[in-house]
Amino acid sequence: MRLILLGAPGVGKGTQAKKIASEFNIPHVSTGDILRTEISNGSMLGKKAEEFVSSGKLVPDEIILGMIKEEFKTDRFKDGFLMDGFPRTLEQAVKFSELLEELNINLDKVINIVVDEKEIIKRIINRIICSGCKKVFKLSDFENDDLICNVCGSKLTKRKDDSEEVIKNRLEVYKLQTEPLVDFYMGKGLIENIDGLGTENEIFERILARL
Ligand code: AMP
Repeated sequence: MRLILLGAPGVGKGTQAKKIASEFNIPHVSTGDILRTEISNGSMLGKKAEEFVSSGKLVPDEIILGMIKEEFKTDRFKDGFLMDGFPRTLEQAVKFSELLEELNINLDKVINIVVDEKEIIKRIINRIICSGCKKVFKLSDFENDDLICNVCGSKLTKRKDDSEEVIKNRLEVYKLQTEPLVDFYMGKGLIENIDGLGTENEIFERILARL
């Protein structure tokens, strides 16, 4: 299964990506997770990306495309993959199509999760993330300050770019630069629009029904 997961920040892409990747036993590629790891390692790539990520802007296409090309040099993706947070601009989408063509790989579907903006802002403000396994939690589910992951025991933290001010920026960037990809993939007959309101499992079942 070769999939792309589209949708604005906060629609639940990361959560659904983990479930889909585990269901089909395919690698989950999150460019946001790769960038956050590079930033916390203080690598060259991390240093280049940090300013963009913390202000909610997109990291330049050439940096992201370089990262993806590097990933696709391995044969880890020959039996399938799930892209989460990539592509995010038309340039990235066009270049990714070219790369897949070169490698003789066809995409199966592009899942577009749709949630309205008010709900997205509410969700992002309430979200905390495991610093170890990256599982997403709701701050409101915790009664005290003991923010520990029930899966891997690591500390739960708030993403720096999940502040209200940066979220507005990220949503604006999404509308301008990423939303046009829905039409791009619609033109290729690959889009499946999924209502992103409901429980994790309800949304997951909706996705599975379209695959
Ligand atoms: P995410 O975890 O997918 O919300 O990504 C967090 C941040 O990483 C974004 O706000 C961007 O700054 C950067 N980023 C992640 N993926 C991409 C991409 N495909 N193109 C450009 N920037 C990206």
